[in-house]
Amino acid sequence: MGNEYWRMLEPKVKAFWKPGEDIICTRVFRRSNNECYICGNTHIERHHVLLNSISNKTIDVELCCVINIKKKLESLGYNQKILFFEKYTEEADHLNNQYKGTAQVVMFHSIEDINKLLSKPEHLSYKQVRAILDHTVKFEDSVRSELFHAALDIYLERKYYIYEGLEEHEKTGNVEVDIEKYFREEWERVKTEEALYQEKVLHNLYYDPEG
Ligand SMILES: [Zn+2]
Repeated sequence: MGNEYWRMLEPKVKAFWKPGEDIICTRVFRRSNNECYICGNTHIERHHVLLNSISNKTIDVELCCVINIKKKLESLGYNQKILFFEKYTEEADHLNNQYKGTAQVVMFHSIEDINKLLSKPEHLSYKQVRAILDHTVKFEDSVRSELFHAALDIYLERKYYIYEGLEEHEKTGNVEVDIEKYFREEWERVKTEEALYQEKVLHNLYYDPEG
């Protein structure tokens, strides 16, 4: 790689990543005409889709450029690794064999992660609560079942089951607003029924079929 390559590497890395942000490799694949975000090469042996977990920006990078991103981050003084899902352990090992410390396999949804999330329930979104339930329900150990019940408490308290019972067209995507709207409509319905009932009672009281 020439000097020109290393000169343009830094602004590209900085445009994608800032300190405190995580880089997650969400996919590895072969055969595609996508060009490498770093060097623009289209004859890529292995594509790595890198996601910035904070900005949600994704880039497609070939293997040697992933390693060069790591080297650039190091030269800037950052000990940032590229995080991989468990299913890509082989790919992570492959990168680390080429340049030690480039990749790290992380267990998302680890017990610590879930614990951390549940310790601040006010920051938990519907999707996160749902994800915790979906994950912990698969296990029978006591730690995870405790976490499952903690998440279930939040689920019941916030009445997320109402949201999940709505038809797709009734959902706006804002879970809290949709649940509120459901209750408002329920209340309107109850009030209307009450009014109709009162009307009927009055009608029966004063209506004399014989007269
Ligand atoms: Zn490249």
